[in-house]
Amino acid sequence: MFLTQRKMKQAAFFIVCVLLVIGFYKGWAKTEEEQSFNDKRLRQIKQNEDSLNEIEPEAIEKMMEMDNDVPYIEINDLQEANTRIRELEDKLHRIEAKIESRVPKNFPTVKFLNYKNRKRILVTGGAGFVGSHLVDRLMLAGHEVIVADNFFTGRKRNVEHWVGHENFELVHHDIVRPLYLEVDEIYHLASPASPPHYMHNPVKTIKTNTVGTINMLGLAKRVGARVLIASTSEVYGDPDEHPQSETYWGHVNPIGPRACYDEGKRVAETLSYAYMRQEGVSVRVARIFNTFGPRMHMNDGRVVSNFILQALQNDSITIYGNGKQTRSFQYVSDLVDGLVALMGSNYTLPVNIGNPIEHTIEEFASMIKELVGGTSKIVELAAVEDDPQRRKPDISRAKKYLDWEPKVPLSEGLEQTVAYFRKELQRTKHSQKDEFETKTKASLKNDHDIIEQL
Ligand code: NAD
Ligand code: UDP
Ligand code: UDP
Repeated sequence: MFLTQRKMKQAAFFIVCVLLVIGFYKGWAKTEEEQSFNDKRLRQIKQNEDSLNEIEPEAIEKMMEMDNDVPYIEINDLQEANTRIRELEDKLHRIEAKIESRVPKNFPTVKFLNYKNRKRILVTGGAGFVGSHLVDRLMLAGHEVIVADNFFTGRKRNVEHWVGHENFELVHHDIVRPLYLEVDEIYHLASPASPPHYMHNPVKTIKTNTVGTINMLGLAKRVGARVLIASTSEVYGDPDEHPQSETYWGHVNPIGPRACYDEGKRVAETLSYAYMRQEGVSVRVARIFNTFGPRMHMNDGRVVSNFILQALQNDSITIYGNGKQTRSFQYVSDLVDGLVALMGSNYTLPVNIGNPIEHTIEEFASMIKELVGGTSKIVELAAVEDDPQRRKPDISRAKKYLDWEPKVPLSEGLEQTVAYFRKELQRTKHSQKDEFETKTKASLKNDHDIIEQL
């Protein structure tokens, strides 16, 4: 056992010695290897230095120039691109400015209505005088409004402040052709309304008020919508009952110059009640009396616009006939109140919507002259055919069933309207300035140039 231990110690000593010898040998060998690698690199560097020294200095300069060409080209491209970007940015700003002047970014604030209360409403003739004010009211109340108009007497400008609004849609459509939409309510106002306009194309006036009304009643029938027909005091013709109440059947010449409108509206009423009785369509009929206010058409030839424009331009104020005929004038916001109240009511028979304060046309001419000032003379011209001699609504039905009566005094409404026409006149004069023709036309060669200038 003792011997064995001794032998083991000797063997361990021997192994340790062998390991030490191997380790020493390896370390020495590695150092040798590194040394030879370093020597090799040093030799290479020396060789490179020698070969660089052999190259001519001119050749080196040339190489450096060639190397610099790449960044030069990039810088030029970059400058060109920057210039182009700046040009495009300028163009974009100009286009944005143009668009901003036409489509306001900030729409009037509309009420929020939840899904249950928000209605989808079609307004035919919504780009006209009354229609555009009604559209304003319905939009501000938070409804979705679709205007269908053929722009015969209406203008896009009347509703342009809503174009682009998520609740608004403007459809260029002639109501004599069918229209397929999904709506909850229809205000059917499409029809020329002033005597010169509806007499301009009497056949079209009849078609609009008959075929157009059938289409709207057909649409209402299909989708179960309620429809309000804009009728008129003209259904009473040249009345022999005064004031006119809804029970009066009227006194209309069926073949005279006004018949296209008067009889057209009477048929529209007849159609409404036929669709109500036969098809169960929910109808409302508003008999509208003379209405005035901003956005009346400049050339509609009605007494309010004619007298104001004549006074503003110091032209003669033209009375047709002796001026003893009467009218009663309501301001447009009162009419809109009445239309909305009627649509919301349960009352289905016709309702007069008008201001019962009556004036002779003679009085009215003096009132306008006084309000506007100026040097206009009041002159009498020949009377017009079938001109109704007296007109004043009995509004007891509207008071009773709609709790409605006009609020705006004539003088207040006229002030707003005069201010509107004054502005319109300035606008028209401005647009007549032929700067475009005289200054720039010579330099423009083709259509493209002209359009680019706009
Ligand atoms: P308006 O001429 O200003 O508006 C009528 C609108 O109907 C216009 O936008 C016109 O382009 C459009 N229109 C005409 N024919 C059309 C067609 N075939 N298809 C589509 N659109 C068509 O007249 P307004 O004074 O605003 O009158 C509106 C409604 O009220 C009319 O129905 C009119 O008979 C009735 N009304 C008005 C008055 C009044 O004093 N303003 C009085 C009585 C009745
Ligand atoms: N109409 C329309 N839109 C509709 C439904 C009907 O314009 O959504 C028109 C259609 O052109 C039709 C008219 O309304 O001629 C009358 O419709 P109605 O259903 O009373 O008559 P019909 O189609 O049976 O002749
Ligand atoms: N009128 C007038 N001078 C005019 C325009 C109209 O005297 O320049 C008269 C017209 O003869 C009528 C009244 O004013 O008696 C109202 O005419 P408007 O055309 O405004 O509407 P109406 O009620 O006849 O549809």
